[in-house]
Amino acid sequence: LQNQLFQAQKMESVGVLAGGIAHDFNNLIQVMRGNLELLTMETNFDVRTMKRLHVVVAAMDRAAKLVQQLLLFSRKVESSRMKVNLNQAIREVSRLLERTIPRMISMELHLASDLGSVSADPVQMEQALLNLANNAADAMPEGGRLIFETENVLLDESFAKAHPGAGTGSHVLLSVSDTGFGMDTATLTQVFDPFFTTKETGKGTGLGLPSVYGIVKAHGGHIQCYSEPDHGTTFRIYLPVMEQERVQERETPEEICPENG
Ligand code: ADP
Repeated sequence: LQNQLFQAQKMESVGVLAGGIAHDFNNLIQVMRGNLELLTMETNFDVRTMKRLHVVVAAMDRAAKLVQQLLLFSRKVESSRMKVNLNQAIREVSRLLERTIPRMISMELHLASDLGSVSADPVQMEQALLNLANNAADAMPEGGRLIFETENVLLDESFAKAHPGAGTGSHVLLSVSDTGFGMDTATLTQVFDPFFTTKETGKGTGLGLPSVYGIVKAHGGHIQCYSEPDHGTTFRIYLPVMEQERVQERETPEEICPENG
């Protein structure tokens, strides 16, 4: 618990700092990028100069992406909650991924037909799913399987005890699995640390999973990572089912409608 608290405080302070800087940087980068693009369109530069300018634009795009990650991580983005069916969010994300992830990766969806709804920001949920899926793709350079799965679960006291920070009652369990190169224990213990990355400079920001963690926590959920070197990785996200759908948990009908008894 001590460790969880420390983790939360660390995330909070890095988040506030990063959010402030990212917000200003986002505006500056957009101004620079826009003007540079106009310049390349309006002026007849020679080939060498054009090449150099394209390198600058590409670097700016990377900077913009990093800043977007920082904004997401600090959740300086607008948040609006609504009734969300996570199956729909997964379908949306898988359509996007079909165009962006390598062909050698096959995508599978195993979605519960009667999945409970959650109160969530659909954009943030999709961002979280995209982050997990992109990491999964990075872990399968030679191809493999990317699996999204949803199910309804009822978490009891013993689960909550074994998983500090998790709640009890009706939850939606959302799993994202890959058959990639996995992680050793040292990596696994740091995956949610801000700025921790094993990827080469320019490729990894170390903000993907902290963002996912922050989003899940902000939604009252719980996230767990399981991984085995050379076999693959699974992220499990538990999100509480919306209040009005939680009636199933109560056992006796008298409790649901006492006035009818
Ligand atoms: P980044 O992707 O920018 O490195 P993340 O916070 O998303 O930042 O991930 C942190 C690190 O966790 C990655 O660099 C990688 O070492 C590890 N990781 C995350 N997801 C996976 C995965 N599906 N398989 C193997 N390693 C992973």
